[in-house]
Amino acid sequence: MVFSIVRDRSFNDRLINNLKKRYLDKKRSVTSPVHVSDLIGSCTRKQVYTRMSQEEDLDDISLHNFVRGELAEKIILDLADINAYQISVSLDGITGHIDGVMDGDKGPVAIELKDSASFIRLGPNDDLFRQYLKQLLAYMCMSDDIENGILSIRYNVRPMEWLKRDSEKNDIFRRKYDADSVGTESWAVYLSKDDILRKQLREELLEKRDRFLASLNSKDVSLLPRLRGRDKIIKCKSCNYYNNCWNVDNESDEAMKFGMQISPLDKILVDVIGNSN
Ligand code: SF4
Repeated sequence: MVFSIVRDRSFNDRLINNLKKRYLDKKRSVTSPVHVSDLIGSCTRKQVYTRMSQEEDLDDISLHNFVRGELAEKIILDLADINAYQISVSLDGITGHIDGVMDGDKGPVAIELKDSASFIRLGPNDDLFRQYLKQLLAYMCMSDDIENGILSIRYNVRPMEWLKRDSEKNDIFRRKYDADSVGTESWAVYLSKDDILRKQLREELLEKRDRFLASLNSKDVSLLPRLRGRDKIIKCKSCNYYNNCWNVDNESDEAMKFGMQISPLDKILVDVIGNSN
């Protein structure tokens, strides 16, 4: 009788190779239409680098994120049992795809599903939360009749508190014994058809589209702002294009100014929620 057990990468490699094929089929090129996520993702400059680059390094983390995101979306919509249908929206050359739209008592409701590995529960004062909210609002603004939305965030990690970074650059965290469990938190969003914010968000999207296209068409990333502040510390250090972005390519004065502008949503949220989550 022979029995053996060994660690084996071949199944993972097969998944990653197939993911690569799927990714390349879907990969947006320089000439693909502009998508909302190009403009409201974590970094528009990075989207330009990604479109211009021929290669993408997909690894186990990419695979993990893909499986988590794609499956969660399907299962949650199914579990909610709301007969949600997926629709595409567009605005002057910008396209978007709403995760789900359901019929509510007061008209259609757009559903945006997010899968988060955040160590904290997010609220309107957090940048990542605002990014999620901006995406949902963009979809609502791009459709003429959606005034209601649901932002549903699924947390995969129990909250932890960052304590310090030691001399070997290890991050030390603490999780309280009574920390929240993993789970889903949903937010109801309302934006009336005649609210001025709708017009302002559309204008912001169109301005970003123009800058994005100008940068892509001239292959000049200096027209787009780099991330700054906390975003720079957290996101740039793990960006594949860090060296080109910070050491090779420039950032024009105009791009810098644009990067420092406060978006209409951020101005309004300060009024709505004050300074507390
Ligand atoms: S290094 Fe930072 S600013 Fe530059 S493309 Fe990457 S995420 Fe954007």
